[in-house]
Amino acid sequence: MTITVAIIGSGPAGFYAADAIVKSVDNPVIDIIERLPTPYGLIRGGVAPDHQTTKKVAKKFEKTALGDGIQYFGNVEVGRDVTLDELREIYDVVILAVGAPADRVLSIPGSDKIGVHGSAAFVGWYNGHPDFVELDPDLNVEAAVVIGNGNVALDIARVLVRSNSGRARTDLPPYARGAMDTSPIKDVHVLGRRGPLEAKFTNVELREMLELTEAAPVVDASHLPGSVPDDMDDRERRLAERNLETLRAFSERDPNSMPKRAHFGFYAMPVEILGGERVEGIRIERTKVEGGNAVGTGETFDIPCGLVVAAIGYRADPIPGLPYDEKRGIIPNDAGKIDGGLYAVGWIKRGPSGVISSSRPDGAEVAEHIVRDFPSGGSKPGRDALSGLLDERGVRVVHFEDWKRLETEEEARAAQPQPREKFTAIDDMIDHLEERG
Ligand code: NAP
Repeated sequence: MTITVAIIGSGPAGFYAADAIVKSVDNPVIDIIERLPTPYGLIRGGVAPDHQTTKKVAKKFEKTALGDGIQYFGNVEVGRDVTLDELREIYDVVILAVGAPADRVLSIPGSDKIGVHGSAAFVGWYNGHPDFVELDPDLNVEAAVVIGNGNVALDIARVLVRSNSGRARTDLPPYARGAMDTSPIKDVHVLGRRGPLEAKFTNVELREMLELTEAAPVVDASHLPGSVPDDMDDRERRLAERNLETLRAFSERDPNSMPKRAHFGFYAMPVEILGGERVEGIRIERTKVEGGNAVGTGETFDIPCGLVVAAIGYRADPIPGLPYDEKRGIIPNDAGKIDGGLYAVGWIKRGPSGVISSSRPDGAEVAEHIVRDFPSGGSKPGRDALSGLLDERGVRVVHFEDWKRLETEEEARAAQPQPREKFTAIDDMIDHLEERG
């Protein structure tokens, strides 16, 4: 009998899993359940608004969503509208593809001051994610600090110092674009607690800083090692060499050649947020790297700033009733298998790392588990039972054709060259669907 599959989460990991299952299981019925009315997870809410090419992968996911046997159940929150246990009763297979939506906590004195934000919240805000629209960070400041040396830190710094005409080509919602376009921010400091060789930036993203039309990337040349040590593995070594070359190009830039600057500060560990109720600066301890770790030297210095964003990584939320690995911030699993009929893909499975396509192999792995674990097919009712439950509970399910209407409206109301003007409130999305319904 048909295998029924519920995938919780419609980000890349969820869609890659759906795609892999369709390719390896005979005529599965797959329902993709999403808390928001809108699909695509990080593609919509995480990928930077000036990285529209990356967002095009959504077109591929759309093909999957429209494929035989697949249905999208948006605006359905597991835990509120239906429980995980109910889904496990109804479906042969349940796949967690819920990502790692929470911020890693910056635990230094003063990190609760107004003007200190985590990157999940800040990125969610400028991407129009309904959970973070209210964040309303004060950008009426001249200097900002972004803590972390990963791609998220780069995204935030770049979006903040981009030109207004550059931002006009993005899908920043009007409130965020307006706040940035009128912000007096001139200096953004991107701080790494270790050195350039340990930075997690990928090189294409780092090089983008050289293409900005109103901001110069700046680095202290004395922080750049002359060469990459021999004991690095080949992949790391290639990345470190490329990044070093890019940073050398930064060091040759005249910081005053542009109206704004993105300063890359290494060996800089934040130890305290300064100020009264609001952030007024950040105290940094100089570090050295020993055995791969940042070790404080005792020397400190302060950077005045009115905004701090901690881009220090994400973590998954624990799921009631399931074990949780606090240290790694994931649900413990064996190559994606949690237990009979329950699987995990993407960041909830392996932690918040890698690019969009890094979740693709997770989908293939789960599809293999399903083929192995269900040799004689499935036995549970799946979709009809879920629809029945949601009907009974009065849940306004947003199916894929509804999403397409929302998308059409977002594109129609965008002012060129903006690609879309996003709905940012769930009520507005539902109102739009009901008015035209
Ligand atoms: P990440 O790559 O893991 O970087 C986190 C950074 O935070 C590291 O530099 C880390 O330093 C630092 N950090 C952690 N705890 C800290 C602390 N307490 N104090 C100071 N610094 C601290 O994470 P991410 O930037 O959030 O990115 C998540 C994933 O998404 C990554 O795989 C990234 O490549 C991917 N991504 C890709 C793109 C793209 O391809 N364009 C865009 C955005 C995100 P240590 O190394 O010293 O721990």
